[in-house]
Amino acid sequence: MAWICPACGRAFERQGQSHYCGKPRTLDEYIDAQDEAVRPKLRELRAILRETLPDAEECISWSMPTYRKGRNLIHFAAAKRHLGLYPGGEAAEVFAAELAGYDVSKGTIRLPYDRELPAELIGRIARWCREAYGK
Ligand SMILES: [Zn+2]
Repeated sequence: MAWICPACGRAFERQGQSHYCGKPRTLDEYIDAQDEAVRPKLRELRAILRETLPDAEECISWSMPTYRKGRNLIHFAAAKRHLGLYPGGEAAEVFAAELAGYDVSKGTIRLPYDRELPAELIGRIARWCREAYGK
């Protein structure tokens, strides 16, 4: 039976599991607050974005990990079965053909945890966002 933290409502296997309990303020806190099983995937995505957008600021915006340069360029978030990448509706349209194998809607690209991250494509999408929205 899972243990539910009474303070933040998250479920854990172990009773009294120590965890970051509250609203994450940094990417590290955000990633640490996710299930252990999905953290490597989140770190992988973060590394791709970090490398592609070296001059962007990492922050939490709209409760999501965000890369910012003058304005928000791209967000990502951990969902139950997928990693959501939020480059905006225009980017999703520009890359629609290459994203044909993924569940995409309204600027959300759903990257299932059980598939390898399309690192090269994610890099190009992030670069597109940097050029389209960055200052
Ligand atoms: Zn908690």
